[in-house]
Amino acid sequence: MYEGHRSVLMIYTGGTIGMIENLETGALEAFNFEQISKAVPELKRFNYTIDTIQFPNPIDSSDMVPEHWVTMAHIIEDNYEKYDGFVILHGTDTMAFTASALSFMLEGLTKPVVLTGSQLPIGKLRTDGKENLITAIEIAADANEDGTAKIPEVVIFFDSQLMRGNRTFKINAENFNAFTSRNYPILANAGIHIKYAGDEHILKPKPGTKLQAHYHIDPNVAVFSLFPGIQEHIVRHILSDPTLKGVVLRTFGSGNAPQLPWFVDAVKEAIDRGVTIVNVTQCATGAVEMERYETGKHLLDVGVISGHDTTVEAALTKLMLLLGEGYDLAKVRRLMHTSLAGEITV
Ligand code: ASP
Repeated sequence: MYEGHRSVLMIYTGGTIGMIENLETGALEAFNFEQISKAVPELKRFNYTIDTIQFPNPIDSSDMVPEHWVTMAHIIEDNYEKYDGFVILHGTDTMAFTASALSFMLEGLTKPVVLTGSQLPIGKLRTDGKENLITAIEIAADANEDGTAKIPEVVIFFDSQLMRGNRTFKINAENFNAFTSRNYPILANAGIHIKYAGDEHILKPKPGTKLQAHYHIDPNVAVFSLFPGIQEHIVRHILSDPTLKGVVLRTFGSGNAPQLPWFVDAVKEAIDRGVTIVNVTQCATGAVEMERYETGKHLLDVGVISGHDTTVEAALTKLMLLLGEGYDLAKVRRLMHTSLAGEITV
């Protein structure tokens, strides 16, 4: 175990963890960090340096926009040398989007960025927030014997499980196990001990890797789900929007879609106009294999890109970042097939 002094920066963005009840409406509203530090006096017992930066106006994560991701990435980049790890307190609703975006924005990360939050406010007796916060800090500070970070990745810690951020999605609006990891093993389990997965599952930065943050995000993208009975005028309306640059198409099974000629034409016309369309399955596990069925192959033939086994959150934020960089279409296509931060298995 590494014995040197450790330091962690907490970034408080809002979310249920720090919310209190509005006495007039009964609704939960984001509150300031003092609420949390008062409720968790245990924070003083860590023998690490723990500092905090809070968003000027903490928010419910349903109000999160790409500018907030930029703010978080800037805070991390500006404080990168000063701290060994970072903990982001965030609402659960869009936590998987933020974790995915940050995993692409923070290229060359060698330190942990651990997102966590809770399903019950920290002021409630049965809160899950205390446990999540305390363990997230421990993981953010954890190091190998040589002082390198145990988890040099953007991750989500929730309900005893540590997950690669860009593999997660929210599965539960009620119970404490709010997240699951799609098509990728858990990186650690926190029981009596924190048990990390084998090295082969954790990203390993090359020696000498330097952090390179990316801040350009193009939000002119859309996610749309197929369903039986989908209407031509609605699909055409979305796909013909002149500002549209990328689409995550949520398909059936292993990447299948209706073979209706109008549908194939509409998809082809959009791709020919320069829109990048990525195929992600609606299934919770498994991967897109467009060559497997006739109903998938026609998408491949007109130029739809496979999202492989990625989440919608990762495909969408990756697309936003690649389009934001201004890469040409061939490069966007190539990088969508490349694992940039462990988000796809190829
Ligand atoms: N609505 C809340 C949020 O995402 C839910 C939570 O934090 O669990 O900010």
